[in-house]
Amino acid sequence: MNAEIIAVGTEILLGQIVNTNAPFVAKRLAALGIDVYYQSVVGDNQQRLTAAIKLAATRSNLVILIGGLGPTKDDLTKQTVAAFLGKELHSEPAALKKIESYFAETHKTMTANNRLQALYIADSLPLKNETGFAVGDFYHDPAKTDFLLLPGPPSELRPMFIKQAVPQLQKTYLNHHVLTSRVMRFFGIGESMIAAKLSDLIDEQTNPTLATYAKENEVTLRLTATGSSDSVTIKLLDQLEKAVKNRIGDYFYGYGDDNSLARVVFNLLKQQGLSITAAESLTAGKFQSTLADVPGVSQVFPGGFVTYSKIAKKSLLGIPAEVIDRYGVVSSQTAEWMAKRAQALLQTDIGISFTGVAGPTELEGQPAGTVWIGLSFKDQPVESKVFHFSKTRPYIRERTVLTGLDWIRR
Ligand code: ATP
Ligand code: MG
Repeated sequence: MNAEIIAVGTEILLGQIVNTNAPFVAKRLAALGIDVYYQSVVGDNQQRLTAAIKLAATRSNLVILIGGLGPTKDDLTKQTVAAFLGKELHSEPAALKKIESYFAETHKTMTANNRLQALYIADSLPLKNETGFAVGDFYHDPAKTDFLLLPGPPSELRPMFIKQAVPQLQKTYLNHHVLTSRVMRFFGIGESMIAAKLSDLIDEQTNPTLATYAKENEVTLRLTATGSSDSVTIKLLDQLEKAVKNRIGDYFYGYGDDNSLARVVFNLLKQQGLSITAAESLTAGKFQSTLADVPGVSQVFPGGFVTYSKIAKKSLLGIPAEVIDRYGVVSSQTAEWMAKRAQALLQTDIGISFTGVAGPTELEGQPAGTVWIGLSFKDQPVESKVFHFSKTRPYIRERTVLTGLDWIRR
């Protein structure tokens, strides 16, 4: 299996733009095991482009043409390849609709040549352009040379090549019919930090691919591999997972689309035969409620305490008023007392506590988002940690609960 790349554009010939597309594609073809034997550049000229295509077709299994899919007169690639193949051009309905809606919505005048961008070669596979209008094209004929047509702008070529073209090449030439995905979940690290730490892995992706999805409080990574069998795809995913964990493994907490920190904590407690209770001030039961979202939680969780006010902390947990008066509600001492007392009252292995300022206003001179979490484990000395969360009240309370779960998991 060999391929050749033809970049189309007079601007490239004249040195006005640098041909970055060809190395982008070549590098990824090499990673797939497709050999590139020739690369060339041709200007926007039908005769010379035809000559280049004819020559390429005599020596390559796959000819990849880059650029010249746009709406202007100098964009000739599709027309030229279609003429060479003796095929007509058809309009791709979804792409045409996208072009028409764009002109309607922006109140711009649409000219006939704008429609040209929706054309594809008859009997070929049109490739969707997520970031532009010109559809790409993959023409496969087992008896002859194949053609892959990609748009010139790198912002269009790159996603189209990775997401649309690569899977087609894998299926067609590499017998890659098995597709395996793995979802990895992270807490305590933002999407931009993940992207920065994994940028080279993300940039170099071909197989497996790596996509990040961020929710407000966590980030998930989807790893997807294709190959000829499960053992091939799983090996590829294992390798990528190892590279990911080397960089951000500290924040990784579990696998799967519908996993959660609460589920991970529940499974951990169940496995180790541990029980847990909680005393909650600013979260007012949210931790316990989150834990109880997991079915079967009564095996590890007998119940707990919502102690919002000083009175509740005193009468429900038996925390001496002097402790709270002396150190304040938002303090390590109060957090530690809460965790210890809850644990003692319900005789669990773990007692966790939450006390802090949910906002929007400050409390005891401490800004919104100041949160103490206390953790008492068996008869070890009780610990506490302070956190400073920002943003809104709902965010602070949610983040507090998840941070508590994350601490237990560790
Ligand atoms: P458009 O719809 O923008 O006209 P097109 O598919 O017709 O896209 P061209 O007209 O060939 O592509 O090129 C459009 C722009 O894309 C160029 O001005 C250049 O900025 C960029 N481009 C084209 N080819 C390459 C290349 N080989 N390497 C890097 N950038 C390129
Ligand atoms: Mg163009």
